[in-house]
Amino acid sequence: MDILFLIKYGEISLKGENKKIFLNQLRKNIKARLRGMQTTLTIKPGRFYLTAPAEHEAEVRDVLSNTFGIIGFSKALQVKKTIESIEEAALILAEDLLKKGRGNLFKIDVRRTDKSFPMDSYGIACRLGDILCEKFPQLTVNLKNADWRINVEVRDTTYLYADTEIGRGGLPVHCAGKGLLLLSGGIDSPVAGYLMAKRGLFIEAIYFHTPPFTSGDVKEKLKTLTMSLSQYIPYINLLVVPFTKAQLLIKEKAKKDEVTLLSRAAMMSISHAVAEKRKAACLITGESLSQVASQTVESIRFTGSYTTFPVFRPLIGMDKNEIIRIAEQIGTYKTSILPYPDCCTLFAPRYPLIKPDFGKMKKSFDALQLPPLLEEAIENIEDIQLWKEES
Ligand code: ATP
Ligand code: MG
Repeated sequence: MDILFLIKYGEISLKGENKKIFLNQLRKNIKARLRGMQTTLTIKPGRFYLTAPAEHEAEVRDVLSNTFGIIGFSKALQVKKTIESIEEAALILAEDLLKKGRGNLFKIDVRRTDKSFPMDSYGIACRLGDILCEKFPQLTVNLKNADWRINVEVRDTTYLYADTEIGRGGLPVHCAGKGLLLLSGGIDSPVAGYLMAKRGLFIEAIYFHTPPFTSGDVKEKLKTLTMSLSQYIPYINLLVVPFTKAQLLIKEKAKKDEVTLLSRAAMMSISHAVAEKRKAACLITGESLSQVASQTVESIRFTGSYTTFPVFRPLIGMDKNEIIRIAEQIGTYKTSILPYPDCCTLFAPRYPLIKPDFGKMKKSFDALQLPPLLEEAIENIEDIQLWKEES
């Protein structure tokens, strides 16, 4: 047996001429997450309708709650456009709600876009109210403080539903193009990627790996984080950059207090080249102003000067607790806090520069003559496509 979901989209409805592009992308994204499942997905004014096999209900709910662009969805009944069929469906829904102990105060909301239907919205609502109270005498209509409500939509056909689950909102991934996320194993960067994907960016993740100083387990951790993000960003992949040679050269040749900033600049420079190669239009980092020495205004100016792409830092104005709350909510926190030696902490100077001088730092970077090593690192990037392994 198939079940039906009615899906509501939010901001897309403001898109005017471009609305169709956004809707088609949303459709593709839902389909991508439900690949392998027998489903139909129809776009109608203001709504999507999805049918799926009943045995996959939990999976479908999970996908709909994690797909950007959806503000809400409801499991619905579709019935013939006759008052008798509508009554019958309303009784089924009410019985189910009563079984779940949802209370005795209720209301009926009717939306009638098909004006040819012989009863008006008020008439349908009154009729259903009467029928339900007759069948279940414990029920009382209460428009202001209802425990539950039944929604009726009379359109090309009729839909009835009770509860609406809240979606994540935002815009469908891909609508805003592609961004390259600098994903470290920490708490912040997965949250940054999530927030930018919510604004419609498709994301590829890039991780700078420094074995043997960071163990192979770190790579597994990064894979797990990427998999967590793939709930929201279908087909996200992970690029692993062998960064040890560059990191060692910086450690060996640079002034101690400049090491972190120079490594960050090298990462930015590689990320720029990779973004160009892979046709991404922006970079994303998990930086938050003043969180650590490398995230002061002066430090960010220096590291950010190694790319001409816009660098999005959606966490810049958030404090750690806010970021942690989102990380918990999106399911990355538990993985992020797994202990592992981070190259940035391993190579970090005891007293890093907090207010670096821009000109001096540029000279220090040039003196290292890093480009050949950076090019070598780019050539040896490992492209991990976890979704392929999954399917
Ligand atoms: P997080 O580790 O969650 O990113 P953090 O507070 O540890 O947060 P930093 O280590 O200062 O942040 O790094 C700042 C940003 O630089 C990160 O959010 C990430 O975008 C990027 N970054 C740092 N290290 C790496 C790495 N090894 N690979 C990829 N990106 C990195
Ligand atoms: Mg980190």
